[in-house]
Amino acid sequence: MKLILVGPPGGGKGTQAKILTGNYSIPHISTGDMLRAAVTEGSELGKKAKEYMDQGELLPDELMIGILKDRILHDDCKNGFLLDGFPRTIPQGEALGEMLHELNTDIDYVVHIDVPDEELVKRLLKRAEIEGRSDDNEDTIKNRLKVYHELTKPLIDFYKGKGKLVDIDGIGTVEEITSRINSAIR
Ligand code: AMP
Repeated sequence: MKLILVGPPGGGKGTQAKILTGNYSIPHISTGDMLRAAVTEGSELGKKAKEYMDQGELLPDELMIGILKDRILHDDCKNGFLLDGFPRTIPQGEALGEMLHELNTDIDYVVHIDVPDEELVKRLLKRAEIEGRSDDNEDTIKNRLKVYHELTKPLIDFYKGKGKLVDIDGIGTVEEITSRINSAIR
């Protein structure tokens, strides 16, 4: 099973990703988690990533495409994977398509978790209290939503055109949303 999760920040991608990767026994590839690990390590990538992340901006496509390419070539991705947070832009989506084509494979489903902005701001501010993520403050949240609408949302039509898209109502309990996804991708 090769899945992509697309959805706004605070839309529950990470939570659903953990459940789905457990159920399908596939690796959870979260570019956000990879970047946060690099920040914690204090590597060159981490230093660069922090500047963008703290502003709620996306890192350059070329850099992210390189990171994803390396990750997807690992052995554990042979039988499937779930991408959480990549692609974030049309060029990333196109690069992923080429990568998979070269590997003679393709994505099975692109799961779009849809949540209205008002709900997202509430959830993100709550997450800021609980997890203390440095990019969960009000200004950064607003910018991340703006970036999502401008750069990431166009991917929804991009994948709809390819017949891969599954639209999921992201309002409800974690269990309800998991069961909506499971019925849609079965
Ligand atoms: P996330 O945990 O997926 O919300 O990602 C947190 C932050 O990491 C984003 O706001 C971006 O700054 C950066 N990031 C994660 N994935 C990508 C990506 N595919 N392209 C560019 N920036 C990314």
